[in-house]
Parts: sequence; C-alpha cells; structure tokens
Amino acid sequence: MTEIYDLHCHSTASDGALSPRDLVSRAKQYGVTHLALTDHDTVAGVAEAQRAAEMEGINLITGIEFSTTWQSHCLHIVGLNLDPSHPLVAEGSHAIQTIRNERAEKISIKLEKKRIPGAFESVKKAAGDGMITRTHFAEFLLSQGYVDTLQGAFDNYLGDGKPGYVSTQWPGLEEVVNWITASGGIAVLAHPMRYKLSGSWMRRLLIDFKEMGGLSIEVVSGRNNPDEINTLARYAKQFDLAGSAGSDFHNPKNIWVELGRLNPMPDFVTPVWHLFETKALTS
Ligand code: AMP
Ligand code: MN
Ligand code: MN
Ligand code: MN
Repeated sequence: MTEIYDLHCHSTASDGALSPRDLVSRAKQYGVTHLALTDHDTVAGVAEAQRAAEMEGINLITGIEFSTTWQSHCLHIVGLNLDPSHPLVAEGSHAIQTIRNERAEKISIKLEKKRIPGAFESVKKAAGDGMITRTHFAEFLLSQGYVDTLQGAFDNYLGDGKPGYVSTQWPGLEEVVNWITASGGIAVLAHPMRYKLSGSWMRRLLIDFKEMGGLSIEVVSGRNNPDEINTLARYAKQFDLAGSAGSDFHNPKNIWVELGRLNPMPDFVTPVWHLFETKALTS
C-alpha cells in the first residue's frame, strides 16, 4: 500500500473544525496512512485521536504546533513524535494558554472600541477547553456579519496592524525547540514561506534553528506550489534538514486544503519520517 504522510493538521483542541476522532476518520477516508495531529500549543486532542487511529487502522504520530517569537517574527514550530505526557510539553502548553487568554481579552477590548461587543464570551465558548486562537475571533466576526469571509476578518480586523491586532510575545525559539527535543520529539519549522522572510533572513533563521536542535523544515505543505517546494527542498538540502509534509488542514469548508492531498517530497530530500524509524530502531 502506498504510504501517505500528513504531518500537520488541527482539531477542535485548537482551531480545527473537526473533533480529533472525526479528523482521523476523514484522514482515513482520504487515504492518509500516517497522520500527525498538531494542534496549536496543545496535545489535548492526541489521546482521542490515538484511540480513533487504532479503530481506523491508521498510524498516529503525536504532534503539536508551538507558537514562538524569533527576532520579533511570530513563527510556528511543529513538534513530531514527542512524548505528550512529558512535563515540559505541559509546562509550555500552559504558559502559552495564559498568553492566549490574555491576548484574547485584549483583542476583545480592541473590538469593543470598534463597537463590536461580545467577542470574548463568544470565543471562550467556542474554544471550550481548547486553545483560543484568532480563528475563533474570525469565526465570531463572520457569524455576526461584520465580515463576509474568514480571510476578510484577518484583512479588516485581526491581521498585523489592523484594529483588533494585538502584538504578542510568544516563548523564544530556543525554549520551544528545547521543549520538543527534551520530550523526544523532532522540531520542524512549519510553513517557512508564510513568514515572508528575505533569503538572508531565512538563512539566519535556519542557522539559528539548526544550532538550537531543529531537525526539519516543512517542504511540502497544503498550499505550496511546485516552485516553493523546490526552493524549500533546496534549503533543506543546504542546511542538512529533513523535509516534512503536512496539509495544515483546519476545516472541510476550505476546499483548497484537504487531508493527505500533498505534492510529493522531492527525492533529494530526506523525509522526516525516516528519522522516526531511526529513532524507533535506536530506542
Ligand atoms: P493565532 O495563532 O491565534 O494567532 O491564530 C493563527 C491562526 O489563524 C492560524 O493558525 C490560521 O489557522 C489562522 N490564520 C492566520 N492568518 C489567517 C488568514 N490570513 N486567513 C485565514 N486564517 C488565518
Ligand atoms: Mn490555525
Ligand atoms: Mn501555523
Ligand atoms: Mn497549523
């Protein structure tokens, strides 16, 4: 059977639309053989996903997507194959939950000043026990008719420099990479193209990331075109980093991104899942 890896997606434990169980069923339906659940800053969905994966007969890789600040850029670092019960994962997750809750209050106050009341209660209810994200705010703004699309919510209210934007200091890159590595995981720089870094800043980032213990970058992602994949594959090769592949699936309503629907990994890049095997053999 062809193996299909999708190592980046979200459930209701953060800003995904599907429960961990439904996400795993959908992954199975779309032919994924190896799935990593990588919710924003939490592993709360992993146990349910693991149970569902055993029922469905697909391989679940434990994952998380940590938010971090590096040189005043907000970056996302995926942790793969980590021990979800490691104390550093819980500590990191708890620290970021506090940051997220405080930020949510500040965003809500800013929206109130724009005569948009009730955001905090609404996002808190929607997030439940999960992490509150800007996606929750975007869904609130959409449901109340302030915008016509989720993208519109980011463009008009939530994006950098917009009226509801709150600049946030996330934990540093070294700390986040350490949480992942110390808990037995592999640190992956998520969607590198999203940060809009110049070539020289990207190289500085990759040098720092590698020095801190980072092992991989996402080469194939849900929305990357072949040119971007080729650029990222060359960075992976140049910096001796493994390549990861993940859709960053959030919601079935987004028809552009689907679980397991990914371009192939260029053959000169070492796939990150080869590192799982090496680890399994040596542990
Ligand atoms: P946060 O980590 O709370 O700042 O929220 C970031 C999340 O919002 C990302 O993981 C995406 O799921 C979503 N997001 C960010 N920017 C956009 C955008 N321009 N359009 C749609 N969703 C976005
Ligand atoms: Mn998200
Ligand atoms: Mn991300
Ligand atoms: Mn993501």
